[in-house]
Amino acid sequence: MRADLVTALREEAVRAGARIVVGTRLSGGSLDERTSGADLVVGADGIWSATRRALDPTAPEPRYAGLYSVSGTTDGPVRLPGDRPQGFNMVFARRRAFIYLPAPGGAVWWSAQVAAAEPPPDPSALGPAELSELFAAEKTPLAVLGASSAVTAATLLHVLPPVTRRHDGRTVLVGDAAHPVGAGQGASMAIEDAVALARELATAADVPTALAAFDRLRHHRTGKLAKTAAANRDAKTAGPVTARLREIMMPFFFNRFYEKATGWLYDYDPGRLPAPRTS
Ligand SMILES: Cc1cc2nc3c(=O)[nH]c(=O)nc-3n(C[C@H](O)[C@H](O)[C@H](O)COP(=O)(O)OP(=O)(O)OC[C@H]3O[C@@H](n4cnc5c(N)ncnc54)[C@H](O)[C@@H]3O)c2cc1C
Repeated sequence: MRADLVTALREEAVRAGARIVVGTRLSGGSLDERTSGADLVVGADGIWSATRRALDPTAPEPRYAGLYSVSGTTDGPVRLPGDRPQGFNMVFARRRAFIYLPAPGGAVWWSAQVAAAEPPPDPSALGPAELSELFAAEKTPLAVLGASSAVTAATLLHVLPPVTRRHDGRTVLVGDAAHPVGAGQGASMAIEDAVALARELATAADVPTALAAFDRLRHHRTGKLAKTAAANRDAKTAGPVTARLREIMMPFFFNRFYEKATGWLYDYDPGRLPAPRTS
């Protein structure tokens, strides 16, 4: 899916007249050299953003969130305890969580999120057997892991304190560079940012006005999501009693309140992209 998104974005950018340069990384110094004549610099360079550092040398740096994730797909259809999984399922275990959902063809996509004060010494050494030990008390995760022979290497999750300098009159941070919210919504927020920024640039009198308007427009929503993301992280690092209570409460909460409680997130309409300028 990610490859499809990258392909679509690349094709659209080329169609709109962009020149794409690959294979070089910008640093604070090279940002200056390459962008000194630019009217606009968009820092879409992720959580380790060099643009953020160029904009504010005292900007916060990411730190390990005490959580890592390992994902995979079962080798084929798998028989799980209970019903066949529908939609998105989450099992909260002690200081870890397991997400699984049906993949086309009967297999199961899954992701294990594990709380650990220190990152694993060798992330590539974590396989289904090691994860099965971590989820030994959980029937469904065990069945899914038992049907999977390969996993992706562990991804360490990072957090970033709030970024206070997100733009000046010419440079703006978007996506994880400005507000990493972690697994779950970060890509959606980056895409919303892109739509909002394009609209402000198309309608504002000049670039500084557009960047200030963009920041005003996005700051509340991304800040609210950052708080939600922190609460979600805490849920995954909770102890056994809280985890068990959450397991019991979750179906009750989901059926009655989930849609309403998350309406601000999922019912949001970022609006349409402005028509491309012809000159
Ligand atoms: C395990 C995991 C699961 C996730 N699941 C979800 C999910 O289900 N839904 C969701 O919405 N989000 C999810 N996210 C979050 C999502 O991946 C990020 O929020 C999203 O990718 C941020 O997009 P971005 O474009 O801001 O940054 P990135 O995707 O990090 O892209 C930044 C780009 O800039 C490039 N770059 C960085 N530095 C430089 C430099 N100095 N010079 C040149 N190029 C540079 C990088 O190579 C990269 O191509 C997940 C994240 C993780 C780790």
